[in-house]
Parts: sequence; structure tokens; C-alpha cells
Amino acid sequence: MHYFPVFADLNNRPVLVVGGGAVAARKVNLLLKANAQVRIAAQKLNAELTALFEQERIIWIAKSFSAEQVRNVFLVIAATDDEQLNERVFRVAESQQKLVNVVDDQTRCSFIFPSIIDRSPIQVAISSGGSAPVLARLLREKLEALLPQHLGAMAEISGKWRHKVKTKLKTVTERRRFWESLFNGRFSQLLKNRQTEAAKKELELQLDKDYRGGFVSLVGAGPGDAGLLTLKGLQEIQQADVVLYDALVSEDILELVRRDAELVFVGKRAQGKQVTQEHTNRLLADYAKQGKRVVRLKGGDPFVFGRGGEELEVLAQQHIPFSVVPGITAAIGATAYAGIPLTHRDYAQSAVFVTGHRKADASDIEWQTLARGNQTLVIYMGTLKAKDIAERLRRFGRAGSTPVAVISQGTQETQTTQTGTLENLAEIAEHAPTPALIVVGEVVALHKKLAWFGEQKLAQKRPHFTLESLRIERVA
Ligand code: SAH
Repeated sequence: MHYFPVFADLNNRPVLVVGGGAVAARKVNLLLKANAQVRIAAQKLNAELTALFEQERIIWIAKSFSAEQVRNVFLVIAATDDEQLNERVFRVAESQQKLVNVVDDQTRCSFIFPSIIDRSPIQVAISSGGSAPVLARLLREKLEALLPQHLGAMAEISGKWRHKVKTKLKTVTERRRFWESLFNGRFSQLLKNRQTEAAKKELELQLDKDYRGGFVSLVGAGPGDAGLLTLKGLQEIQQADVVLYDALVSEDILELVRRDAELVFVGKRAQGKQVTQEHTNRLLADYAKQGKRVVRLKGGDPFVFGRGGEELEVLAQQHIPFSVVPGITAAIGATAYAGIPLTHRDYAQSAVFVTGHRKADASDIEWQTLARGNQTLVIYMGTLKAKDIAERLRRFGRAGSTPVAVISQGTQETQTTQTGTLENLAEIAEHAPTPALIVVGEVVALHKKLAWFGEQKLAQKRPHFTLESLRIERVA
């Protein structure tokens, strides 16, 4: 870190500006915004500075610069076109350990001015340390566009209420939850529409709520591509105290979890169980009882072969409040990216999602229904049983020539789709990377026509601005 960023309180504090031209005036205007007491040493003042002088907003202390002018000020700015004079100001300030800036001469600066985005009291200062000012400016423009104008009003009202909120809500966690729900909710909307009074009422209303209790949110993370996470899901993972996630949740999604949240891996696979479902259920309840905001993050959708229902039953039994945020299930996401429409007027009037991995005591699957024509069958957790599945489907009437696809790592950059027919499904499935889905039905034939775009796009590195801008928007 070459420069140390600080926000200085210059209110009524003296600052010396040497120079009386346009460059000096620019800095003076900035300093006046911060209510600094501006003292100017200059032969003459330009029209703008003269006006400020006549309005007594600045003090014209002398016609020329002298060392003692530096003694009682906090900052020194040299903005003259006389290089020797600038050099002298710099040396004098340095010898008195005053922060000094010679405008447009980085070698003679002990501090520099950042690019500023002003949503007072929220301020963002950007600097490239002088190495790439254009980049800093572009970044500033981007942030300006992202940070809504009502941000300032939001912070200002919050500032006025801080003390009251602190008296009413005793712990840091309660207060954090209160502010988060406020900034993400109606309060923010109302301020955006400039309904200040209604926003204040909303704040009071929210302050009466109880922020102590634990809460569990079951969130579907989608099949992998972080862009498929819902906005509501994003909100939940950014407000969580603890996130329990399983193996299907992608790295990109975990990147979006609130930095301070505790991450707990509770993954299990079809083979080699690592964590039992009972253990996960217990963890969820325990964390919630400690008053934490818990997110149970699951691949795809929590209610589609995700055992989400079982987890909620346990919470309900113990009267722990919960919510569910659906996600895009693998069958929807992976087929979309593979260019396989689940239904099609010519080929499939229904789509059935089924698991190839059954509870030991489950009654046998209705193969007759599954083998019906004009239907797309999507099989989760089926690759290990592919041989058996293909045989049964054929035995119950599905033609051996029915097109099939095995989609691996759907919606991720590594997604692959292998196609064939029911006859060779077992061979394709055997070596397919996991996680993988089997799709059976005539719609698979459309893959060749419709996939090139989706999968080619996946193969290219996705631009990162999608995730980054989401993150920034939430802050706003
Ligand atoms: N709740 C999840 C499914 C969990 S069951 C959902 O809604 O998607 C786990 C199975 O889902 C895996 O064995 C695999 O068959 C399928 N699956 C999950 N993610 C996948 C992905 N990205 N690509 C292909 N199949 C996936």
C-alpha cells in the first residue's frame, strides 16, 4: 500500500493554498465543501476566488508565500505555475511535517487527492496512486452509475437514528439484522421515491420487530453458474451468520457469501457418506437456537431431490422459523445450456424428473409411466444405474433408438453433453464426469441444433462484471 487512505475532518481547520488561479480555485472549492478554513497566499486572485474572498468564505493572508504561513495549518497545497515556488512550498511543508500537495507534480506530494464519489455522508474515494488515472476515472464513472442518489439520504437518516437503535437493540447482531433488513427493504424503496416521511415511519415500524431469534433459510444455489442464483438467494447468503453448504454448491457461489459468515461443509455423496442427514438437521437447529441467521445452501433447488423437506420438518417440529428460496434445478439449468428443451410441441408434451438413487425401502418405480412416449425423462443420480435404467425403459416399451443425453457439470464452464440412444446409454454414462444428469426423449435430437451457442459461450471465460456488479448493487 503506497498511499494510506484516510478521511480527514477539515471542518474549520486551516488549510494553506498557495496560488490564485484556476487550478487553485478548483482545490479551494473542494476544500470549502468540507468546510475547511481556506487561507490563500497569492499575488492576485482570479475572478472566482475574488468572489469567494468578497463573500468572506476564504482568507487572503498574503501576496507572497513565507515559511511561517505553514506553521499553523493542517494541509498545504501549492497550485502555482512557478515551479521554483512550488518546490519551496514543498520543502518548507516537509520540514515542518505538514501534509503537502503540489498539484500535478506527484514527486512533490506527501498526499494526493483521490477521485471522489459524494453521496454524503457516504463517500467513496478512488485512487490508482498516480499510476493509472484514466482507469481510476473509469472506475469512478462505473461506481457513480451503480450507487443510487438516495444512498446519502439513507445514511443520513440512519445516522440520526443510530443512537435510538442502539438503546433499543442491545446486541451488535440485532442491530446488524435491523439495518440490513432496512437497507434491503421498503425503507430503501421509499427513499428512492423521495418519500422521506413514509421512510421514517417504516424505520419506526421495523424497529419494533424482534431481531433476536434464530432463523433458517433454505436456499437453492442453482446448478453451478453463479449467475443463476436468484436475487433473493443472494440477499440471504449476504446476510447469513452461518452457511451450511454441500458438495454441489459451486465455488463461484461461495464467493458471494458474506465475508464474515461461518462456512460449514456438510456434503455427502451417493457413496462414501461424510456427514449424515441427522447431523445436518441437528446443526441447523443448534445454530438457529443460538440466535443465528442460518442459510442452508443446496445445489439446484432445495425441494428437488434435495431433502429440503426433511430438514424443514425437523425445524418445524422445534418451532424454529424458516423460509425457502427456490433455485434453478439441474434439469432446468443443464438442459437449457445444452440446448435441449424439456417440452416441445412435436416431441414431448410432458417432462418427468426422477431419481435413479432410491431409498432402500422405497416401493418400486412405475416403469410403465416412465417409459411412455412423447415425454422427456430427466434422471438425477442415475449414471451408476444407467444400465439397469435403460434395460427397464426398453422392457416397458421405450424404443432402443430413443435419443439420450448425459449432461455433466451442467451450467459450469466444464459442462459437457454426450448423446446416444437408449442402446448405448450405459457406456456413455459409465465414464461421464459427475455430477451428471440423464435425459431420455426425442427432444435430445435438438441438442445439435441448439447447443452450439450455449456451450460455446460457457467454454469462454465468463466476464466477471456480472458477479461484481451484483455485489456492488447489494451494498447500494
Ligand atoms: N437439488 C438438486 C439435485 C440434487 S441430487 C437440484 O435441484 O438440482 C444430485 C444430482 O443432481 C446429481 O447426482 C446429478 O444427477 C444432478 N445434478 C446436480 N447438479 C448438476 C449439474 N450441475 N449438472 C448435472 N447434474 C447435476
